[in-house]
Amino acid sequence: MKGFCVINPNYEISYDKTIINDLQFKNINVILSCFLCNPPQSKNEGIYYRIIKSEHGKCIQCISFWNRQWFPYHIHDYHPFFIYLDDKNFVKFILIDDGHHYSKMIKISKNQIGTDFRISFFLPDHGLTDRLKIGRIFKPKLIPLKPKQIIKWWIINNMAQLKLRTKLIDPYKKGLIPESEPKKDSLIYRINHITTFNIIHQPMNSLRYTFRDEVVCPVCKEMSTLDFLPVYKDQETDFFFLKNEMKCKNGHKFTIKYNFQEGKMEYFN
Ligand SMILES: [Zn+2]
Ligand SMILES: [Zn+2]
Repeated sequence: MKGFCVINPNYEISYDKTIINDLQFKNINVILSCFLCNPPQSKNEGIYYRIIKSEHGKCIQCISFWNRQWFPYHIHDYHPFFIYLDDKNFVKFILIDDGHHYSKMIKISKNQIGTDFRISFFLPDHGLTDRLKIGRIFKPKLIPLKPKQIIKWWIINNMAQLKLRTKLIDPYKKGLIPESEPKKDSLIYRINHITTFNIIHQPMNSLRYTFRDEVVCPVCKEMSTLDFLPVYKDQETDFFFLKNEMKCKNGHKFTIKYNFQEGKMEYFN
C-alpha cells in the first residue's frame, strides 16, 4: 500500500499454512490458554499472524487481538508474541509480551520434540506468560495479518492505536530480542499492570527489551519508549504521519515524527 512501509524491504511476507501449521512445530506444539479471561474469538478477534522470511531466518509474528479489555477498560487490546524458526523450521526461541509490550525471551531446545509449550493469557488485561499451567486451553482463530489491517490499526487517532511499528516491520531490530532469558521470575510484578499503584517496586522489572518503538533524547541520550502518537495527514502529499512533543526524564524537549513511508522515527529540536 502506497505511503506505508509494513515490512523491511529486504524481507518477504508469507501466510504459508504449512509453516504456521496450527502452531504445531517440529520440536514443540504451542498451546494457548486463558486464565480469568476469555480467548479472542468474537467478531474481528483472533490471533493475527504473518511469516517474515529474511536472511536471519523465519519469524512468525502473532498479535492476539481483542475488541476490548474490560479492566482497566479500553478498546482494542493487542498482545504480541513472535516465534523464531531456524532454517529447518525448528523453533529457536519465542518472544512474548511480558506486560506493557516488554519482550521476554524463552529459548526452545531442538531436542524437545513433541513437547507442549504453553502460552497463557491471564487476568482481565490479557497479559501473557509461560509460567502458568492452569487455565482453559483454546484452539486459536488464526487470521492472516494483512498490510491493510496493520495500516487501519496504525492510523487510529486515539489510545486504540496499534503501538507496534518499527519492530513489526523488522522483528530483528535492535532493542527487541533480549540477549538472554530473564533471571527473575516475572509473573508477580505483572500484577502491577492492573492496579493503579505498584504492589511490587518497579525496578524489580529488569526487562529493558520492548516491542515498542524507542526514542533517544538528542541532548542527554535518555531512552524512552513510545505509546499512542497523534495522527496527521500531509495536505500536499496526502501521506499520513505521526507526531508528538516529547520530554525526557531530564526535562529536555524535542519533537518526534514517525514517517510511515520510511517506517522510521525522525527527530526535530
Ligand atoms: Zn491487554
Ligand atoms: Zn534529555
